[in-house]
Amino acid sequence: MNDTDFACPRTGSDPSRIIKRDQIARYLPASGGDFIDDEAIRRGLADNARPDKQRIRDILQKSLAIQTLAPDETAALLAVDDPDLLAEMMDTAAKVKRFVYDNRIVTFAPMYISSYCINRCKYCGFSLDNKKERRRCLAMPEITREAEAMVRRGHKRCMAVFGEHPLTGARFISDSLAAIYEAKVPGRRPGAVNNIRRVNVNAAPMSVEDLKIVHEAGIGTFQVFQETYDHVAYRALHPANTVKGDYGWRLTCFHRAFDAGIDDVGLGVLFGIQPDWKFEVAALVAHARELERFSGIGPHTFSVPRMHAASGSAMTTAENPFSDDDFVKAVTVLRLSVPYTGLIVTARESKALRDRCLACGITQMDAGTRIDIGGYSADEAGTAGQDIDAQQFMLGDSRSLEQMVTDLARQGVITSFCTAGYRCGRTGGCIMDALKTGKEGTFCKINAVLTFREWLDDFASPESAAACEPVLEKELAEIAEQFPKFFPQVKARYDRICAGERDLYF
Ligand code: SAM
Ligand code: SF4
Repeated sequence: MNDTDFACPRTGSDPSRIIKRDQIARYLPASGGDFIDDEAIRRGLADNARPDKQRIRDILQKSLAIQTLAPDETAALLAVDDPDLLAEMMDTAAKVKRFVYDNRIVTFAPMYISSYCINRCKYCGFSLDNKKERRRCLAMPEITREAEAMVRRGHKRCMAVFGEHPLTGARFISDSLAAIYEAKVPGRRPGAVNNIRRVNVNAAPMSVEDLKIVHEAGIGTFQVFQETYDHVAYRALHPANTVKGDYGWRLTCFHRAFDAGIDDVGLGVLFGIQPDWKFEVAALVAHARELERFSGIGPHTFSVPRMHAASGSAMTTAENPFSDDDFVKAVTVLRLSVPYTGLIVTARESKALRDRCLACGITQMDAGTRIDIGGYSADEAGTAGQDIDAQQFMLGDSRSLEQMVTDLARQGVITSFCTAGYRCGRTGGCIMDALKTGKEGTFCKINAVLTFREWLDDFASPESAAACEPVLEKELAEIAEQFPKFFPQVKARYDRICAGERDLYF
């Protein structure tokens, strides 16, 4: 499909035919309202606006013990302005990240599959109101070709992204996952085959029945961003007669996901669409706490996208300023507030800002990113470039995967292509304890080394490989020192990878 003339097909966009009221109500108090209490969050921020140093240091001890912070504690951290205390917070955030996830950044790339959308979000280029957007929805063979193009660059993890539209419902999403997993590309060594090993999904909220379909297709993380938790701002940005206009349908989507068997979920807000960013951080933590209460399983990731200029949108980044310094503080407070949750900073942001975030505990970054539909294939054909009317917004970091991996290695950080967790059943409740006790960090460290070895042998240029080898050797030496009894098993798999075997992990 490739259509410049967008028309909504017959199944329509009537929210009452898509939203299942009983699948909202069952997760909310019968007395009304929901678990995001705007007034309570604002009161908490005001009541904790002047924390003393000792209180902040006590809170940092709790983060170091990998405990989720109470709302007042998150509010107190958000109030810190003293540069020395902020530096202590960032230092602690880095320690927490190291304990839970070790010294690695997991990398992935998004695949934008369809820009058709029935919603009218005021900040998004895919809004139905944007008549300039050149819309496209990939057909299954195109999805496989797009996945092949990603694999040829060295990607192992993909985030499949969809607008909300009857054309791209649960069945379509599930078929898309199959089309991505189907892509197989010959590797450098004779007989070697490369592929995408994990597909996460960023799509609209769905019913329990639809989520079961997507679950069966082998979804990794199910990501839905609330955009803003502020009920009033939400209403202003998402018109009431649209599906997305229903705050409760979106807010309860992870409760439905858990009930559908998906135990790996990613939360997020879109910073810069309303002025009070501290409210959004506090609300994200409140949402995480609610998921812990509901199912015992907190979010796998927080995403912190920031609004960037979009085609057809009158919103500008100057409207609700959210500076780089605030961004770093938001990331730091999230890392400290829910210490076991991964943190994603995407290529929306510049290399300089992403580098700053590395120092306060992020765990995942996309690389070599294309957000135009069919962008990876177009890149191979030499026809790609950023075009605001053919994508959702403009990117800030256009480094290739190889450039990013090499830059990270020069900063002493190892890139991980690990996809072991969900394939070994280490998700949901199983992974919560492992994360909190630092056990998962050991797996992260070892699997980072194994998958990085593979990547260097299969994809790196001689110059990049030379720049990356020292970090690999350092990590391997640390494994030998920290886990002397286990090391021979790790080394045996490492040697098998050096000899050409692939996809070995713990
Ligand atoms: N349509 C689905 C939805 O809205 O949930 C998911 C896909 S949407 C393409 C993914 C995310 O992009 C949204 O949740 C939003 O946070 C983000 N986004 C939308 N407009 C943006 C903009 N102008 N700049 C940066 N991110 C944006
Ligand atoms: Fe559609 Fe999602 Fe964009 Fe809103 S943010 S217009 S729902 S693609």
